[in-house]
Amino acid sequence: MREESKRFLQTRYGASEAAIACVEAAERDVRPRFAAIEDVAFHNEAKVLRALQDEPIALRHFAPTTGYGYDDAGRDALDRVFARALGAEDALVRPQFASGTHALALALTGVLMPGDELLVASGKPYDTLEETIGLTGDAWGSLKQCGVTYRQAELNEDGSLDIGAILSQLGERTKVVYWQRSRGYAWRNALDVASIGSAIEAVRAVKPDIVAIVDNCYGEFTELLEPCDVGADLIAGSLIKNPGGGIAPTGAYVAGRSLWIERVANRLTAPGIGREVGSYAASYAPFFQGLFLAPQTTAASLKGAVLAARVFEMLGLDTLPPSEAPRSDIIQAIRFDDRERLIRFCQSIQRAAPVDSHVTPEPWDMPGYQDPVIMAAGAFIQGASIELSADAPVRAPYIAYMQGGLCYDHVKLALILALSDMGEGRAF
Ligand SMILES: *Cc1c(COP(=O)(O)O)cnc(C)c1O
Repeated sequence: MREESKRFLQTRYGASEAAIACVEAAERDVRPRFAAIEDVAFHNEAKVLRALQDEPIALRHFAPTTGYGYDDAGRDALDRVFARALGAEDALVRPQFASGTHALALALTGVLMPGDELLVASGKPYDTLEETIGLTGDAWGSLKQCGVTYRQAELNEDGSLDIGAILSQLGERTKVVYWQRSRGYAWRNALDVASIGSAIEAVRAVKPDIVAIVDNCYGEFTELLEPCDVGADLIAGSLIKNPGGGIAPTGAYVAGRSLWIERVANRLTAPGIGREVGSYAASYAPFFQGLFLAPQTTAASLKGAVLAARVFEMLGLDTLPPSEAPRSDIIQAIRFDDRERLIRFCQSIQRAAPVDSHVTPEPWDMPGYQDPVIMAAGAFIQGASIELSADAPVRAPYIAYMQGGLCYDHVKLALILALSDMGEGRAF
């Protein structure tokens, strides 16, 4: 960093010399890791560009539509481009998916019928899915209420898939086996795509007709392959995470085999209507442009996460993954072991935001989550976690889940500010 920049950070942000020195030292350590991240981004950029060109996308695909949206060329082209980019037969990419949870819920209800059983193969699923499945609460219309039973195979101690446990839970009525790729809000590693592929293969060897569904949230473009490349039947994710590139204003996607995509489309609108309707009165351009930028945005987030891991390792905290480890999601977990330190870290991330930097986040009871959650999210798009953000369920051992960053420099800056803020107190 130039001397001018250090002076600027000190005078205009109140950054401490120690914080700047720490982040610079961490950056020197992790620079060699960045090359591997850039190689993955290059490969994925090539995939996405090819997908856009194979359509081929033209300006007319950006045009807004109204009403029923019959013959909406932009909507249909977006489906096909996403399918190609994600190695899937087909996809539904819609601003009408309100969130990742909505897309995942429709993927599940598109396949599961009363009397079927769902087997989650990766331990406790993401918090928002608990009510959808019916594990907690008594939400009307949960899978449980609809007569779908549930089983769960725990992960091994080291966070890897326990194939023996998965196979032993397969039953007569098991229709869907479900994997969550990302760590979500859990202190475990993300599942890499190859491991998900081997597990799908092992399950198919015993029960060839199971439907393999993968929660792909936060995983897109972190590796060379996606779950559909290794046998997943359906995947789903949010467009305000990786595949929206920080540009898509809302929405989510489901991708996979055509047969199942048609059924999910029937859930999305109405049985018999499916994907034939659905208009969007704003431009589709941000969805295409977001996908185009997504490999780069994901890479920026990954580099920021690696830097954060190194910074906190240097300060003696536990991080998951550690700075050296390979990654299959963009989340960086940092274990603070202290409620106040956790809250102050999240508040510092907010202070470093381009939007709402003047507000101070506090823990609150967020719909769908079991504990109070503190969220630092000064994003251009509300709640977008491909933008730099930090979330934490406020429960011991007080782990912050930091993710996103539209550009690496922002993450680096935020870490300098966070260390400066925290260095003033007892934390470090
Ligand atoms: C974000 C996320 C979801 C869906 O969350 P939404 O907030 O509804 O988009 C599901 N699973 C995982 C692992 C996630 O990270």
